[in-house]
Amino acid sequence: TSSSEPKAIHRLSENLINKIAAGEIIHRPASALKELIENSLDAGSTSIKVSVKDGGMKVLQIQDNGCGIRKADLPILAERFTTSKLSTFSDLSRITTYGFRGEALASMSHVAHLTVITKTKSDTCAWKASYSDGILVDAKTGQKSEPRPCAGNDGTTITIEDLFYNTPTRLSALRSTSEEYSRILDVITKYAIHNPKVSFVCKKAGSPSPELSTPSSSDTPTAIRLLYGHSIAKELLHFKISSNEKRRAEDAMDEDEPDDPEAWIAEAHFTNANYQAKKFIFLLFINHRLVESPRMKRAFEAAYQSILPKGSSPFMYLSLQIDPRSVDVNVHPTKREVHFLNEEAITERIADAIQENLAKQSHSRAFEYQT
Ligand code: ADP
Ligand code: MG
Repeated sequence: TSSSEPKAIHRLSENLINKIAAGEIIHRPASALKELIENSLDAGSTSIKVSVKDGGMKVLQIQDNGCGIRKADLPILAERFTTSKLSTFSDLSRITTYGFRGEALASMSHVAHLTVITKTKSDTCAWKASYSDGILVDAKTGQKSEPRPCAGNDGTTITIEDLFYNTPTRLSALRSTSEEYSRILDVITKYAIHNPKVSFVCKKAGSPSPELSTPSSSDTPTAIRLLYGHSIAKELLHFKISSNEKRRAEDAMDEDEPDDPEAWIAEAHFTNANYQAKKFIFLLFINHRLVESPRMKRAFEAAYQSILPKGSSPFMYLSLQIDPRSVDVNVHPTKREVHFLNEEAITERIADAIQENLAKQSHSRAFEYQT
């Protein structure tokens, strides 16, 4: 065939479309886990237990004590674009849940064996459902099926087995099981810092003691000490600032206050000059979503430049809340990137606040030495 001859255009099969889409959302066990943790938090859970086998490639299981899923919803649970969180386009600008696209569970059912056990408070027993390519199936025969009654606590347990069993290229792109496991621990650690009221536990399947465990109803400094260690926790500085200097930060986003779509609050815990690490540990949550922002990272690193020796880096946890109307979360399927209004100005205000706090601290330290 000569290259000047156009080839016929045909429609991709739905199954292929769904597999391609799944690949965009689920890159590796840790990205699947991020979606599952967000679902558990959306469901109001106060306890989240993760169990991992072979770096999550063999088994990744997450058990929560949230609201559960109604039995009637189970048949469409793993179809693409089925969600309880979004109905209209304008809802998108008010979104306060992590999820909204209804794609996570669907994606998992296309690249792994997915099983859900769930019980709502009003259910008399739990219900179990297995999914393959978006469809509720009998786990043994693979035929379309119905939820099965079983024993279980209030809440939801989701199990993903044999991740990427049917997408060999993706499977071979994964690193070692220990590398994948450390990424899993990293995701849980970060969500545990941001949600100190929620208890997180992570263990390897078959291991008697958990590798990571946090209590419920804790607070941020305690969580940082527990998960990042005393050497960081003892050198922490803290501030909370907002778009409106004059009002208390807590009031800036108060619903009774005059409506300001540009209102924001930033709360940060970050190390002083006594702490010097090789790598910048930067945890960024925008509207409770774990995101990445190379631009903010650079700005905050620069704020430390005058205070830390060359080549050493701080720890920083920043939680930024912005009026949802000023944030676009729908930039990327993984929601890893968000765009928001006044990004540069807000970054600069926070960087200034970091510098001020660092300067104050190093000043008082110099004073201590003198006396
Ligand atoms: P999204 O989170 O974008 O809605 P998902 O595919 O992640 O899409 O989940 C689909 C739906 O399944 C959610 O909207 C929610 O109603 C339900 N769901 C998923 N996980 C849980 C959970 N752990 N507890 C309760 N409901 C859940
Ligand atoms: Mg979700």
